[in-house]
Amino acid sequence: MEKFRVITTYIYDKEINKNEVIELFNKSINSEKIDDRRYYKGLFYRNLYSVYDYAKKYGIRQIHFQTNDNKSFLRFHEPSKFGDDLSKTRESIKYVNEKKLRINTFETGKLLSGFRNIFPLFYKDKHIGSVEISLSLKLMIDSLERLDNRKEYHFILNRKFIESKIFEQQKYLYTQSTISSDFVKEDSNSILEDSTKPLSNIAEKINEKIAKNSKIQELLKQNNFLSEIIKVNNKTYNVIFLPLESINNKLEGYLISYFEANNLPTLINYFSLFVIIILLGSFLVLVLLKIIKDKTEKLNKERDWFFQINNSLSEGLYVTDLNSKIIYINPIACKILGYDEKELLGKNAHYQFHHHEKNNYSQKEDCNILNKIKIEKHFQSDEEYFRLKNGNLIPVEVSAQRLTYNKDKNYEIITTFRDLTTKKELESKKNLLKTALNFCSDSIVITDKNANIEWANPAFEKLTGYKLEEIEGKKPKEFVKSGLQTQEFYEELWSTILSKKPWKGELINKRKDNSLYHEELSITPILDIKNEIKHFIAVKQNITDKKNKEKEVEYFAFYDYLTNLPNRRMFNEHFKKILESFEKEKKHIAILFLDLDKFKLLNDSKGHDYGDELLKQFSNRLLKIIRNIDFVARLGGDEFVIILDNLPTDYIEAKKICEKIANKILNLIREPFNLKDFEYLTSTSIGIYILDSALENVEDIIKKSDIALYEAKQRGRNTYYIFTE
Ligand code: GH3
Ligand code: MG
Repeated sequence: MEKFRVITTYIYDKEINKNEVIELFNKSINSEKIDDRRYYKGLFYRNLYSVYDYAKKYGIRQIHFQTNDNKSFLRFHEPSKFGDDLSKTRESIKYVNEKKLRINTFETGKLLSGFRNIFPLFYKDKHIGSVEISLSLKLMIDSLERLDNRKEYHFILNRKFIESKIFEQQKYLYTQSTISSDFVKEDSNSILEDSTKPLSNIAEKINEKIAKNSKIQELLKQNNFLSEIIKVNNKTYNVIFLPLESINNKLEGYLISYFEANNLPTLINYFSLFVIIILLGSFLVLVLLKIIKDKTEKLNKERDWFFQINNSLSEGLYVTDLNSKIIYINPIACKILGYDEKELLGKNAHYQFHHHEKNNYSQKEDCNILNKIKIEKHFQSDEEYFRLKNGNLIPVEVSAQRLTYNKDKNYEIITTFRDLTTKKELESKKNLLKTALNFCSDSIVITDKNANIEWANPAFEKLTGYKLEEIEGKKPKEFVKSGLQTQEFYEELWSTILSKKPWKGELINKRKDNSLYHEELSITPILDIKNEIKHFIAVKQNITDKKNKEKEVEYFAFYDYLTNLPNRRMFNEHFKKILESFEKEKKHIAILFLDLDKFKLLNDSKGHDYGDELLKQFSNRLLKIIRNIDFVARLGGDEFVIILDNLPTDYIEAKKICEKIANKILNLIREPFNLKDFEYLTSTSIGIYILDSALENVEDIIKKSDIALYEAKQRGRNTYYIFTE
């Protein structure tokens, strides 16, 4: 049977499934005009007739083409019969046209029965029909008898199927089987040219006996394999019924073999021994089969295990022979490199994607990886480059080694690699950030959640005077706390940052040399994925200069920059306050307006430096004269003012004190001034106004003092004058 299967497959593959044949078949069924279809069918028939002729020589009975709607198209053994629907009578053809799969089965037919090889036919991937190449019963019987000529064979076919399938005019070919009325035999009158030879008398007699054997009759209805011993003419015959089933497991008929069992009695005597031997043998075979099955399952499991591990690796992996030819490559390697597996298998890994930075297009002999493997059996580097299918280069970490299971010289190399693109990008970003932090003029400190310092930038070292190694692991409060902030200040800071919010504020801290500095501090809590505090980042700015400048600006708003005496603004404010308190108390106060005499002369003759120096020394002398409760200010230029507070309620008394102080001033100023290398004599004029009531406003008081000063100047300078109404 195998031989015929090979012949039919050969006919199909070499003679039928060819472009020109399939094209003719397609044209003869799918051309638009009926005349064209007829013309091409004629061509198709003539084209394949020689094939049919050749097939017949090998006993092949039928070559039968069908269209994909299960209609007969061309029977080479009966070309005039076509167009009939085969879907009900020929399950095998229906099956092939439906599933588009080739099959091999026994089946009764519309004309004749036999073994069918049916192949689906495709024109440009479109399923257009099928072809059946069948063997005759005679051919099968002849072949079987050639195999063992002591046996005789006979086919009986299921009457039910035959009657439902065959053409009316074919019915004469079938006669009832002597075995059972349920079965018919084909061509018993040897009408066909390939008819089977008639049964021997013995076989006919055996059949008659079987017809009377009710047990066999019953069994024949059940599609079972039967082996029966029948005695005819004192001889014993072994009759075997082989059920012939269609693709849907229906009983199409039986192949019956008749065999004279000469030594069957002897066999029966040794039957028990045979049974034991067969059982033992079967047992051994079963044990062996079990062992083979277990081993195969284990190997399959190991293979699956290996593939699953390989496919789930995040690293690319490939195996090459020692010439770098790729034998195996895992999916992630293909994905990284941008190739399909089939594009890489069998290719040379070195030329395909190795790319050594310095030696771009190196020969295989210069390949870093291969050379190292040759000598040291192992290669490891994170400075290699692989070229992707799109031409881009990626940095890779490569590890390769010889596979040692192969002890001969033709070892294989297993290479794993990892795409470092993201890692390198992250590294360069990290370095960039670190550089930025190192050059940042603000101090940056990173602590853990307990405020222990983990890292600080050079600006912090510069600000505090501490080196990173001195403070690592310490808390900032252990070395920078100045004690100038209150406990509440720190409590507010901690409660803010522990509630995962940033804190910002100003404080005074202490350097390593104990000097203090002002800092503007912002602390940001850094949270992990569980929303827990992992670190704190503190950014500090030294604002000491800014603070000092602010103070200075504040100071010189009220003090004179040259003499450090209160200025006009301070005088105004102070004087207002005095006047307010003056309302409640009965007392006198006096305003003394001073203006240096001929001061311009000094400026003009010696320069402004000398003038400035005189103004400073003059201020100091004034401060020595006045009492603590009194007030002295520089109003501008060479003008000064003194307020004498709490003078007696009696005007005469108050006036006396004023005169005394005015004389004291005049005397003191007459003393020579040492201006650098130069001794200078000068004097001042003083205008005095004594008040006893607060009804007057500041402007009037100043005006009156000014008038008194003017009077003193008019009276020859170096004198005082007390304003009178
Ligand atoms: P008099 O006796 O009439 O007061 O004559 P005088 O030369 O002192 O004239 P006056 O008081 O009007 O002039 C004051 C001068 O003081 C005018 C100005 O050039 C000078 N001056 C004003 N402010 C400063 C200063 O800060 N430093 C110096 N060196 N000179 C100043
Ligand atoms: Mg003056």
